[in-house]
Amino acid sequence: MGHMMIAHPLSAALLLATTLTFAAASVTAQPARPADTEVHTPVPAIVTPGSRDGDPPSDAVILFDGRDLSQWVTTRDKSAAGWTVADGVLTVKKSAGNIETKQTFGSYQLHLEWKVPVDITGTGQGRGNSGLFMASPGTGDAGYELQILDSYENATYVNGQAASIYKQSIPLVNASRKPGEWQSYDVIWSAPTFNADGTLRDAARVSVLHNGVLVQNNYILPGETRYIGTPAYRAHGPSPIKLQAHGDPSAPLSFRNIWVRPLAGSSPAP
Ligand code: MG
Repeated sequence: MGHMMIAHPLSAALLLATTLTFAAASVTAQPARPADTEVHTPVPAIVTPGSRDGDPPSDAVILFDGRDLSQWVTTRDKSAAGWTVADGVLTVKKSAGNIETKQTFGSYQLHLEWKVPVDITGTGQGRGNSGLFMASPGTGDAGYELQILDSYENATYVNGQAASIYKQSIPLVNASRKPGEWQSYDVIWSAPTFNADGTLRDAARVSVLHNGVLVQNNYILPGETRYIGTPAYRAHGPSPIKLQAHGDPSAPLSFRNIWVRPLAGSSPAP
């Protein structure tokens, strides 16, 4: 909501005082009733929730349900996404590069599940590294990365561990599960907005639950996440959601059950 502009606050105060005096003199005051503050429209749309928490509700856009990558393309050249789908699970193919959604999104609620392989090796950032780019306005690692990493007894810089907003915001707690166990992210993403001249109007904000535990609480992003240097914004509209094929040599992660509920500013389904 915007802020009401009052050109002359003193004039407004005098008008209010005059009106109140007149009302008191000419109208018998009615006692306040409960119905005075009851609102009946707009009626919220009915959404059927999933049978279990984490299952997609009836209004979700299904991005991966275990069957295929029809909703995804290769970020680099928009060709068919080259990651591996087998046994209902999507596994990163590092040589194929990052993949992103065909559809673009503004603000949304998203659910995603990921698993570090039980036989993971490596240390620090080189151990089960991937990422969820909540908006991808460009190729490579452009955008806003929610870090995916094996952070179960694996130390690294804390603004780069699992559930960090990469190099921006340390997670409130470390809720990581062991390698070999499925983990979940639930993300509430408020996309940034820009003025017609390209300057920032509203910064992006994000809240994240990791395995049901709050790890980012309405964090306000100072810009896109960057491996080197200071975050900064560039103007963009609705954008794909991207998954990272990280270049480290450790075994690739897997994903399942990815869905999103657009909240505003999204493109229609392709
Ligand atoms: Mg990453």
